[in-house]
Amino acid sequence: MQAVRARLADVRDRIARAAGRAGRDPSSIRLVAVSKTFSADCVSAAAAAGQVDFGENKVQEALGKIEQTASLSLRWHLVGHLQSNKARKAALVFDVIHSIDSHALLRRVDDAAAEAGRRLDALVQVDLAREPTKHGASVADLAPILSQAAGLRAVRLVGLMALPPAVGNAEEARPFFRQLRELRDRLTAEGTPPEMLGELSMGMSHDFEVAVEEGATLVRIGTAIFGSRSVL
Ligand SMILES: *Cc1c(COP(=O)(O)O)cnc(C)c1O
Repeated sequence: MQAVRARLADVRDRIARAAGRAGRDPSSIRLVAVSKTFSADCVSAAAAAGQVDFGENKVQEALGKIEQTASLSLRWHLVGHLQSNKARKAALVFDVIHSIDSHALLRRVDDAAAEAGRRLDALVQVDLAREPTKHGASVADLAPILSQAAGLRAVRLVGLMALPPAVGNAEEARPFFRQLRELRDRLTAEGTPPEMLGELSMGMSHDFEVAVEEGATLVRIGTAIFGSRSVL
């Protein structure tokens, strides 16, 4: 558990240095500690070291951990693919959903959150590389999602998320991060309200410094904080 505290400090330091290189204010970057496969005790250890934002990639796995850490006032992010039949459950427990990939899914989450009297933030996951196995909206799918966002009751659309293909070194991910930022800039120039696109969720353990240099405001980091995950 001491290791979690030390690794968190190291990651925060590396984020601050990457921000410095890009002339950015480090406080404009939020660290999401991705706790998937790790226990609620690991989450509590990170929380004790000041970590507030936590990410999970599966709704079912998250439910127990969220319940077990309910006294800690943490902010929970769903970073993995959301199936539409889990939209309701997700809307009841998560504070931020990074993986909206269709207007139908966004509608479902909004309806469920509105009924439950909850408010939450959402990002649209964009499939930049168009890999057959990856989830996310194509650039062409974005227009109907964004045009729906103004009429939502409980969900606030706040930005875009990308999960670039696995690459051997972090520099190879840079073009994808840059592409997401440029997409955001283009959509804003074309009239999408800037507050809907303020957040860029990009960067993981092996490439978050490059993502910060390219404008990430949310970095999703698991192994660099909690250690390596045993293969499931
Ligand atoms: C697991 C996961 C992460 C964190 O990955 P690490 O390489 O452990 O930092 C980030 N984003 C998503 C969508 C994930 O599923």
